[in-house]
Amino acid sequence: DKEVTVTAGATQALAAAIAALVHPGDEIIVFEPTYDAYVPLIEVQGGKAVALELKAPSFLPDWAEVAQAIGPKTRGIILNTPHNPCGSTLSENDLEQLSKLVNEHNLYVVSDEVYEHIVFDDGKHISVGSHKELKDRTFVISSFGKTFHTTGWKIGYCLAPENISWEFRKVHQFMVYSVSTPVQYAYADYLTKPENYLNVADFYQTKRDFVLEKLEGSGFTYTKASGSYFQLIDYSAIHQGSGVELAVKLVKENGIALIPLEPFYVKFSAPKMIRICFAKTNEVLKSGIERLKMS
Ligand code: PMP
Repeated sequence: DKEVTVTAGATQALAAAIAALVHPGDEIIVFEPTYDAYVPLIEVQGGKAVALELKAPSFLPDWAEVAQAIGPKTRGIILNTPHNPCGSTLSENDLEQLSKLVNEHNLYVVSDEVYEHIVFDDGKHISVGSHKELKDRTFVISSFGKTFHTTGWKIGYCLAPENISWEFRKVHQFMVYSVSTPVQYAYADYLTKPENYLNVADFYQTKRDFVLEKLEGSGFTYTKASGSYFQLIDYSAIHQGSGVELAVKLVKENGIALIPLEPFYVKFSAPKMIRICFAKTNEVLKSGIERLKMS
């Protein structure tokens, strides 16, 4: 009762957590490519997003760079694991390094874990909330939308210790007051059968592998996504312009929509990669890859 708050999707959980955490002038470290909600939510509170780069091919934080970026105004760090759009996942070692910095500088963490049940190749989701020290200073944010293929239903949750949940609820109370009851009953019913969510990873891994197999010989290159339902592909051998130009061309000429990486960057330059979403039926994926290969 005191540590779980049901929210109107992860988006509202992020908004409430960031509003509870950020005061005018505070700095929050974010990593580019950045899920598009974070920076506006920080700025609307009068805070400043300090962007660091996740570099290919691992797309994981460089903790030495994080240490350098921390200053007297740093209040917290926003993480996303499994990552949208990169498909990368944090390890226990990442959490150890993060924990040292959080302790030393008295920081808080907002950990966006909406793809928590979608981790591949026998990997395990390492929640920031599973770390013995980090759990006391973290808002873990997730969403039933990703796990149950119901992205429009907008029910998520924030997990945090009682004192942090208390601060979170001060904002949540006046943002939504409470969240759609019928939809909560529907999810509660679905949650009674663990197989409804425990095989989501296998379900999506088959789709990821199907897409990668079909991409053979296309000229696009990749590092396999280790989580989420996104796969980045490198288009540098195929297209010389920007990802946005390629995405527009693919929609207009090939009839397929992929997401370019430029909108996920504010400070750094996007690599020559574009994002496939493989949360689709196999027929759509097959036809999509055929259309992609026409480029
Ligand atoms: N965080 C990430 C990383 C996401 O990809 C999404 C959905 N695109 C959200 C948060 C928002 O989730 P919800 O639909 O539950 O608001």
